[in-house]
Amino acid sequence: MDDKPSSGTVSESSELLFSFGVIADIQYANLEDGYNYQGNRRRYYRHSLVHLQDAIEHWNKESSRPCCVLQLGDIIDGYNAQYKASEKSLELVMNVFQMLQVPVHHTWGNHEFYNFSREYLTNSKLNTKFLEDQIVHHPETVPTGSYYAYHFSPFPKFRFILLDAYDLSVLGVDQSSPKYQQCLKMLKEHNPNMELNSPQGLSEPQFVQFNGGFSQEQLNWLNAVLTFSDRNQEKVVIVSHLPIYPDASDTVCLAWNYRDALAVIWSHECVVCFFAGHTHDGGYSEDPFGVHHVNVEGVIETAPDSQAFGTVHVYPDRMVLRGRGRVTDRVMNYKREKPFPFSV
Ligand SMILES: [Zn+2]
Repeated sequence: MDDKPSSGTVSESSELLFSFGVIADIQYANLEDGYNYQGNRRRYYRHSLVHLQDAIEHWNKESSRPCCVLQLGDIIDGYNAQYKASEKSLELVMNVFQMLQVPVHHTWGNHEFYNFSREYLTNSKLNTKFLEDQIVHHPETVPTGSYYAYHFSPFPKFRFILLDAYDLSVLGVDQSSPKYQQCLKMLKEHNPNMELNSPQGLSEPQFVQFNGGFSQEQLNWLNAVLTFSDRNQEKVVIVSHLPIYPDASDTVCLAWNYRDALAVIWSHECVVCFFAGHTHDGGYSEDPFGVHHVNVEGVIETAPDSQAFGTVHVYPDRMVLRGRGRVTDRVMNYKREKPFPFSV
């Protein structure tokens, strides 16, 4: 239904390599509709499950079936914790995902941590690290810390990297642990408000409790994987619940140390796209290094008569996002290859 023509200049002659699905912020809860914190966006807590079902039916029927789906986090709403419905709601959503005929990669957002501890998530069906790929003879590309991150290659010369944007966070961490104290200190140094979810008056508004960041350990690992991908002339797609590029997002939604993540990515050639959720309104910008930052519109704030998911079609020279409903179509050309400096 409602097939939109592709935007931009799409050369029909070039070969489709593979496709993948994207969906963000399902935030299911068995609740009447409500509103966001500011009171200006309606949230369709129950209907989000119907939106997910429709998306899965669509992906299962697509002529070029996606190789996988990226679920960008906040799969159930934090309200479930208040109503002691976290496990039941997660089970309902996961039962719907069972209908999907291709693998789904789950990222973790703030609402995962409102409902569950990190330990619980690690042992749950939301941990899809078993889908990771190993690169033989490159131990530096194996994640070794306590963060939830991995990479996989769905097609030769393409690699996807899932990042943990709540690696540094006060959410989901045992409050008696040194890590909690370290993260709380970092948050309070940047946010003097009594209410740590409030960005009021902050010069760096991303330092709020509902966000988080990337540890140096995780950034070192990301750097190692990107170094491998550069050497092997791979194209890389990065996935994270939190966005990292200010021009594509409300600054209050960015990862705490988004600059550190950008610095790593910008020191490599291989990254093509960065997909994030969390913003609900969506957003897009191409940064000066040719990386396309896409914030996917959230299911939870999508009216029953619309939709919010997309399929990305990958070509040798570009990725084309076909958005459904609120998700905008995008043509994302790869940056021009720099000539190899030592070639003869
Ligand atoms: Zn979120």
